Amino acid sequence: MAKALAREMRLPPLPTVRDLLRLYKIRAAKKLSQNFLLDPRIIERIVKVSGNLNGAHVCEVGPGPGGITRALLSAGVEKILVIEKDARFLPTLEMLREAAGGRIHIIMGDVLSYNMENAFPKDMKKAWEEETPAIHLIGNLPFSVSTPLIIRWMKSVSAQNSAWTYGRVPMTLTFQKEVAERICAPVSSPQRCRLSVMCQYLCDVKHKFNIQGGSFIPAPKVDVGVVHLTPRKSPIISLPFSLIEKVVRCTFHMRQKECHHSFATLIPPALHQTLIPKIFAIAEVDPTTRPFQLTLEEFDRLCHAYNLLVEKVPEIGTYEYRAPRKERISGEDLKPQLEKLFFL
Ligand code: SAM
Repeated sequence: MAKALAREMRLPPLPTVRDLLRLYKIRAAKKLSQNFLLDPRIIERIVKVSGNLNGAHVCEVGPGPGGITRALLSAGVEKILVIEKDARFLPTLEMLREAAGGRIHIIMGDVLSYNMENAFPKDMKKAWEEETPAIHLIGNLPFSVSTPLIIRWMKSVSAQNSAWTYGRVPMTLTFQKEVAERICAPVSSPQRCRLSVMCQYLCDVKHKFNIQGGSFIPAPKVDVGVVHLTPRKSPIISLPFSLIEKVVRCTFHMRQKECHHSFATLIPPALHQTLIPKIFAIAEVDPTTRPFQLTLEEFDRLCHAYNLLVEKVPEIGTYEYRAPRKERISGEDLKPQLEKLFFL
């Protein structure tokens, strides 16, 4: 049955992607950091590590000349929504759409501002706790887009909006190899950073494989890592994304120093001496731990302790150590209130 379905989905003969680029005189645009993948074995590997896509709905970001799109169709994908910023690819994508019997829906635009709330059939929705829906997001994007995009998407995973109104939609994306390593870095590894925590508290992450820069046309100076992310049934930290982002960003501010130093950037200076030991005691975290050694569970407890403080004294939540000096509160006038609250 699956074989018969795959046969049905085979595309009629088409010019190769390489020929199409020549035919339409498309050269990679530096401005859009375009690096095309033309090697079918690598393309098939990206599609394969995405999981079983037979009958699935897929959103492909940055299809360019359509190498990955073709492989997705051959893998039996039911419908592909492609989002492409560069209008030069419209004719090649339209040709592919016709050959695929309308299984491709083309959106010319910027993926960074595209809301996927209505992108897939409503009856594909699954409850968050159920298994993942037959929907997948995939893309070989420029490095300058994939990093802001993953943060945006993590925010949407946290809010369960955009594509994640359909349930725990998985993603397969390419990044600069070093960024892929950072996203997947375990506790205490040299690459552990803000991105590792922000992705891993929400998703199960896997660095699937690397692609040598030389496999792209034109070749970027760096290698590329393919990362697969599946949203967790229960995020490790269940607080608003913006609060977690602030705590994690500030805590990694001085990566190699004991974490109480960088955590202090969340607190007005006049309150450091009394509040910082109190917060670490409430969170049951050793303040001498370095930020890259903190586990997700320790970040969870630190975020909750900070949240407790901000709920009781909202002025502290407005403190931004990077704001101009005259806009920063010293915290001196908050001391009596805090003394009463925490018996300081
Ligand atoms: N997927 C193709 C491949 O693997 O050969 C092209 C990859 S190329 C690295 C990145 C593609 O993303 C280009 O086609 C580029 O025009 C497109 N792109 C860049 N920024 C984008 C954005 N903000 N939204 C949608 N597409 C974008």
